[in-house]
Amino acid sequence: MSSKKIVLTGDRPTGHLHLGHYVGSLKNRVLLQDKYDCFFMIADTQALSDNFDNPQKVVCNIEEVCKDYLAAGIDPCKCVIFVQSLIPELFELTIYYMNLISVARLERNPTVKSELQQKAFSNAITAGFLCYPVSQAADITAFKASLVPVGEDQLPLIEASNEIVRRFNRIYDSNVLVESQAILGKTQRLIGIDGKAKACKSLGNAIFLSDSSDVVEQKIRKMYTDPEHIKVSSPGKIEGNVVFSYLDAFFEDKEELESLKKKYRQGGLGDSVLKSLLNDTLQNLLNPIREKRESIDKSFVKDILSSGSKKAGEVAKETLREVRSAMGLNYGYV
Ligand code: ATP
Ligand code: MG
Repeated sequence: MSSKKIVLTGDRPTGHLHLGHYVGSLKNRVLLQDKYDCFFMIADTQALSDNFDNPQKVVCNIEEVCKDYLAAGIDPCKCVIFVQSLIPELFELTIYYMNLISVARLERNPTVKSELQQKAFSNAITAGFLCYPVSQAADITAFKASLVPVGEDQLPLIEASNEIVRRFNRIYDSNVLVESQAILGKTQRLIGIDGKAKACKSLGNAIFLSDSSDVVEQKIRKMYTDPEHIKVSSPGKIEGNVVFSYLDAFFEDKEELESLKKKYRQGGLGDSVLKSLLNDTLQNLLNPIREKRESIDKSFVKDILSSGSKKAGEVAKETLREVRSAMGLNYGYV
């Protein structure tokens, strides 16, 4: 393998990718693929941890997520795109790592805690869901990734992964596993179009990369602004104003944005003008992505996932061999 740093990150195939993914992680990946050895994983097994009763939802979104990657500029010639469940080595690593973290530590993980609040099974947490951070540690370490481009919600999971790495290396007196660090996007957490803390596939409060221009326009029209800003001439609030949050994330001319904010605060700037500016901004970003997405052939996607999963499997196999050897599990017989 080359001496370049290794990047790993992924997405759960629970729906199409949205603007939160774009600013939180995808945009960074497009830059990173030119500099590093990048692995991008479609995390179907992780998605099953809270969709085990609806596997078809996960299955049918695998190719959709891959299409979103390609449409957003991820180039399969520069990186490896693979499907998590096709790499069984990840699950053997998960089992070994489960011994290295306590149940209490998993229950206290802030990402797990906030996701549990959102999910239906909060009174009967499954072992699979509780342990998905362990499986995520296996994903990161199997590729010896030191860089993980993610949104801010993922930081406690990367910390948990590093704890497992340190524990493994200490207990088995090894340096096989590598600690990783998050790379955050310029917008670390894009809020939902409903004003909720995070745009999220599962909450259905996002603008998707594949949304038609009409749907994008409708979603912008419904966005909250300042509920007390009734007349154009009255002063408006920027804080909690979803349209301004999206302009902060996507409108490039920051000087112009500052003067719009000033005018909005003073009064004299209508919500419809702002929404139309946001609509132009987002349509300009999404039009080429949507066009590219529509031109992608299904068989091309299948080929990419198939060859990427083969390559990823080879790397994970070698790490698993080293892990087993560090633990003294190199028996010398099958
Ligand atoms: P789900 O509802 O299935 O959890 P999701 O919308 O949260 O879906 P994930 O597949 O869990 O998306 O996240 C993939 C990556 O995108 C992660 O790195 C995550 O931090 C990032 N991400 C997701 N939503 C946002 C957001 N609103 N802002 C910034 N980054 C985000
Ligand atoms: Mg998520």
